[in-house]
Amino acid sequence: ILKGKRAVVTGSNSGIGLGVAVELAKAGAEVVINSFTDRPEDHALAAQIAADTGANVRYIAADMSKGDECRALIEKAGGCDILVNNAGIQFVAPVDEFPVDKWNAIIAINLSSAFHTTAAALPGMKAKGWGRVINIASAHGLTASPFKSAYVAAKHGVVGLTKTVALEVAGKGITCNAICPGYVLTPLVEAQIPDTMKQYNMDRETVIREVMLQRQPSRQFATVEQLGGTVVFLSSPSADQITGTTISVDGGWTAL
Ligand code: NAD
Repeated sequence: ILKGKRAVVTGSNSGIGLGVAVELAKAGAEVVINSFTDRPEDHALAAQIAADTGANVRYIAADMSKGDECRALIEKAGGCDILVNNAGIQFVAPVDEFPVDKWNAIIAINLSSAFHTTAAALPGMKAKGWGRVINIASAHGLTASPFKSAYVAAKHGVVGLTKTVALEVAGKGITCNAICPGYVLTPLVEAQIPDTMKQYNMDRETVIREVMLQRQPSRQFATVEQLGGTVVFLSSPSADQITGTTISVDGGWTAL
């Protein structure tokens, strides 16, 4: 259903971004994947997705902590019809001990990058009279947890940016929405399981259910495929009138 559309997914050589890129490619979109590295394996990953899906997939390196590189990514892609702002990092510390460089990096990568890529992508979308801006926020865009001040502030900022952009482009064939995942089983999360098992002397299933998914009433992870499916839905004609809102994919976290 996305034949003829070009998608750019920031921070997509791993985790949710990669899952989103694969689902967009399966739906027939041309896809640009991205991260800040420029290794042979990054380009090989693009070639692999292309081989698996039959879609045109390219890798373009750009550091989402730098505004000019965010804008250059959109330019090098040749513009885009679907922009998925996904790049993100995390750091955990009490606010009065939070390292300033970590605060600045989180605000830059998790929030400001979406401003820069959106600013660069909108003129092309307006010219075509069609576009989708989809921001991967978080349950932490709607609620808070202690020790995650920069992340929670950035993700709430992403939700605010989403609403503002939606209002500015309403009626122009362009929508802007945020997806708010709860806990998603990405390599980042998977890597924490063995240590947590040791720490609590629990088996894998108990660690997942009782420790990691304590705030997720379903006691199940969301998957990167489900996040990709949500992006494809928001890109489909069924979602033409969905704009300026958030879709939670969080197993009930924000209903509590
Ligand atoms: P991940 O670490 O697997 O993926 C992050 C991606 O961002 C990677 O591809 C990484 O290379 C890229 N990236 C990091 N810094 C970058 C930079 N400076 N420039 C360009 N790319 C950069 O993590 P993930 O879990 O897939 O997270 C993806 C997004 O989903 C993030 O915005 C995160 O906040 C959000 N999220 C994740 C979860 C979860 O449980 N995993 C939950 C809610 C929201």
